[in-house]
Amino acid sequence: MCNTCGCGTGEARLEGMALHDRHVQSAGGAQDGSRYGIRAPLRVRRDAMPPDAAPSAPVPGRESAPAPEPAHVHVPGLTPARMLRIEQDILAKNDGYAMDNRAVFAQTGIFALNLVSSPGAGKTSLLVRTIRMLGGRYPVAVIEGDQQTSNDAERIRATGAPAVQINTGKGCHLDAHMVAGALSRLSPPRDAILMIENVGNLVCPAGFDLGEAHKVLVLSVTEGEDKPLKYPDMFRRASLLLLNKIDLLPYLEFDVALCIANARRTNPDLRIIAVSATTGEGMPEWLAWLEQGARAAREAAGADMTMTAEA
Ligand code: MG
Repeated sequence: MCNTCGCGTGEARLEGMALHDRHVQSAGGAQDGSRYGIRAPLRVRRDAMPPDAAPSAPVPGRESAPAPEPAHVHVPGLTPARMLRIEQDILAKNDGYAMDNRAVFAQTGIFALNLVSSPGAGKTSLLVRTIRMLGGRYPVAVIEGDQQTSNDAERIRATGAPAVQINTGKGCHLDAHMVAGALSRLSPPRDAILMIENVGNLVCPAGFDLGEAHKVLVLSVTEGEDKPLKYPDMFRRASLLLLNKIDLLPYLEFDVALCIANARRTNPDLRIIAVSATTGEGMPEWLAWLEQGARAAREAAGADMTMTAEA
């Protein structure tokens, strides 16, 4: 059950097969990148720290997000105190898996992004254009999250990039355990850019750390300028806002300046890039941001390996 909206989980499927623990050992198991199929020397950073007690590992250059607020879901037959304990258990378990994912990304130079938006904001089209424009300068691997269908994973595979599809069933968001399972199937190479396209939803994905370096929020100009005010949690947790579909602005009454002002009011540090996945406008600036992050992740992992070899 989701801690935010109370939706159903536990039905997640990876490429049509039930996502069980056999894909991934428990978060407290020995940390070994080989379980994700990433062939790289990995060093255990978390010294016998029980996953449920461990805080999320800080990411260099990334401000830690505030702890999610309990959502106070009301379920008949459960007291508020019991509900709060369930919420805390779910988030602590998720944080354990997220910490493991983040450690693997850090040690293998993988730059992982969690793409979030409302349904229909254009995440998949943006990914397709991004992969094509990157032109192989960085290997890209994609995890797709939707309640049903493999349509988006198939669109990504058509570009030549590897992709796996997670279907969340009644679930409204991806969690870190699902991502760990998908990683074991995807086996992204070292120094890859990993795009995790979350389920279209601006509420619940805000509360679930997947181990990513950044949340990238995609908002299209066919939505309202007041989305940042209506869904402040997600805007606060995002590092970058991609204002998408700007090629449609001549046909809309969308006030770009007002939208940007609302976004900055919610998160003064939010980087904002206006793009069109259709015409390519703004895409070079997005790609520059992406490649800068990928380079930094690669260099940090390389420096880490050097230090390990010298130790
Ligand atoms: Mg999509």
